Amino acid sequence: MSGRVSAEPQPFVFPHRHLLGIEGLSRDDIALLLDLAESYIALNRRAEKKLDVLRGRTLINMFFESSTRTRTSFELAGKRLGADVINMSTSSSSIKKGETLIDTALTLNAMQPDVLVVRHPDSGAVRLLSNHVECAIINGGDGSHEHPTQALLDALVIRRHRGRLAGLLIAICGDIMHSRVARSNIHLLTIMGARVRLVAPPTLLPAAIERMGVEVHHDMHRGLADADIVMMLRLQTERMQGSFVPSAREYFHFYGLTYEKLAVAKPDALIMHPGPMNRGVEIDSVVADDITRSVILEQVELGVAVRQACLEVLARNLPGIGHNR
Ligand code: ASP
Repeated sequence: MSGRVSAEPQPFVFPHRHLLGIEGLSRDDIALLLDLAESYIALNRRAEKKLDVLRGRTLINMFFESSTRTRTSFELAGKRLGADVINMSTSSSSIKKGETLIDTALTLNAMQPDVLVVRHPDSGAVRLLSNHVECAIINGGDGSHEHPTQALLDALVIRRHRGRLAGLLIAICGDIMHSRVARSNIHLLTIMGARVRLVAPPTLLPAAIERMGVEVHHDMHRGLADADIVMMLRLQTERMQGSFVPSAREYFHFYGLTYEKLAVAKPDALIMHPGPMNRGVEIDSVVADDITRSVILEQVELGVAVRQACLEVLARNLPGIGHNR
């Protein structure tokens, strides 16, 4: 039998029941998700976008914090894979009537959904929920902890432009302290062999962040020097208790991305931002809209493909779908 080449498609295995964060994923897990997402990009550009990978399955989006792109993106991803998609937000949930998060989850779980996408203002809330349900859970952003699908879509955009992640120098700038996007990106990029620099005022950097294997700078000119990618973050005032920056104007002066600060990065450095953007606070409008450098809208586009990949791998681990495409 040796030497026979099988024509069977190779089964792919994602050895996790949930996607709670990037921490805990392996290089292979990440590569699997990115490769699969890649295959959805072309599909999403076609007039006919539907597949039936998730036909008969139910996806519930449970968002306890506001969201435009993440919720819409999961909704489109689920619908394009043929799932029934239900959206729930805090304003329409019984949490308003005093029900606990776990009771809400148990109630939804009793309706036999297959996947729950959960966004919650508290770090750790999504993991807590995952201990109480039978369905697969995807973390759509929990407090300042993790936002795994954002980091995956960022990685997909970078990989498409640069062909790789390993060896690239990526500067993540701004409000690192409150950013789940930064945390998930640090995990992903360091796992994949990129070099990560954080650039922020000391007040917006968590203590001992260097332990995550990153370099830290407080000055944009030093932090951006030779960067392949410049990733800007929003000042997340909704998570701040007290004052972390003197004023938006002063913050822009020192940390806002302008062409002048960008000049020290690689000449073709890509500009990224997870959105929503505060124009004139962390990024100059002309830089954000520069279609030769900014890939901000491509991040939104590829986000749908990444979420399709995440839904597919988790759904294939549920009983009744199987592993081969
Ligand atoms: N949309 C991203 C998040 O939910 C980034 C942000 O809100 O600034 O974390």
